[in-house]
Amino acid sequence: MKEDTKIVHKGRDPDANHGIINPPVYHASTIAWGTVAEMESRRGKRWEPGVYTYGRHGTPTHDALEEAFAAVSGGYRSVAVASGLAAINAAMLAYLEQGDHVLMVDCVYGPARNFCDNVIGRFGVETTYFDPSIGAGIKDLIRDNTKIVYVEAPGSQTFEMQDIPAIAEEAHKAGCVVICDDTWSAGIYFKAFEHGVDVCAMAATKYIVGHSDVMMGLITTNEEHWDRVRPSAAVLGANSGPDDVYLALRGLRTLKIRLDRHQETGIKLAQWLQERPEVDRVLHPALPEHPGHDIWKRDFTGASGLFSIILKDEFEKERIDAMLDGMELYAMGASWGGYESLIMPANPAANRTATEWKDHGQLIRIHAGLEDPDDLIEDLQQGFNRLNGNG
Ligand SMILES: *Cc1c(COP(=O)(O)O)cnc(C)c1O
Repeated sequence: MKEDTKIVHKGRDPDANHGIINPPVYHASTIAWGTVAEMESRRGKRWEPGVYTYGRHGTPTHDALEEAFAAVSGGYRSVAVASGLAAINAAMLAYLEQGDHVLMVDCVYGPARNFCDNVIGRFGVETTYFDPSIGAGIKDLIRDNTKIVYVEAPGSQTFEMQDIPAIAEEAHKAGCVVICDDTWSAGIYFKAFEHGVDVCAMAATKYIVGHSDVMMGLITTNEEHWDRVRPSAAVLGANSGPDDVYLALRGLRTLKIRLDRHQETGIKLAQWLQERPEVDRVLHPALPEHPGHDIWKRDFTGASGLFSIILKDEFEKERIDAMLDGMELYAMGASWGGYESLIMPANPAANRTATEWKDHGQLIRIHAGLEDPDDLIEDLQQGFNRLNGNG
């Protein structure tokens, strides 16, 4: 079955459900067992699809999303949790013990860095951040106690790519697990498990849900790592609710066509921005000028709608604020992956320790939504007028 067909058909069985196309939303805490024997037998198979023991451990609604997403992203199985950050935490905690060491990419999502520095750090797990461009050089940073090598490509502010196959090869030689945050590619444009990743943790909040209304994380693993990760997701208690799972599954059905449009508009905006005299650099891996373009082209089949620009280092803060404050179509806010466009200033220098962020111009992150690209360009044009003091 090809990808578009899986997106439409996986995770549902109308014949088993009165012909109704979508799976029902099961609300459950208690799930009754008929007999002691049945209770005992179900408990032993608690993580099997189709086996239900308690609301926290999933329902048929959860199974539907998890089965569909695992099939689409090329993993063995998935589990839905309460947020993207919960997915990251549960994936990492599946492996860590006191005294362990984590290698984490320097451009990682800020709250994941915070989790390492301020949570697992307190329990005796040390984190070393590495240069996103390190490639096979990761081997020099791997220690005897290194358990996890963590990648996120491209980084969600600076869009730095990583040579994940080269990193994974060295990590596996040393017996480390490779965890990847694949939120940007949404499990579509990067098939992580074909590139050496063992465990993916993503914010389904972004493109899977796609409508800026639900928080959700998905953890997906290859076959080898499932038995380790699935109980970790359960023991932390950050399960997702059935209504949210249903909305995520609804989002998944249109994921590919939305993503393709986000990609098209994102590239259009990026190319237009590249020509602007106010812009120093456009950080979009699909542009040939991007330093990670060759890796992106080799490993990814597309680009989602999130990218950044760096303004030339000559604009006063108040002019930049005026540019951003006056946008008509771009909302200013965290998160992304919904149908609407976003714009936000960010400071990547504050979130790095292994490498120095050398650009001095203001970084502005843009999410290309599903509006007409000409309207989005016109709004940016007006924004540049304000930046230049004539708006
Ligand atoms: C938003 C985001 C997360 C966290 O997801 P939440 O659902 O907000 O917890 C993780 N990684 C990346 C790259 C993100 O953009």
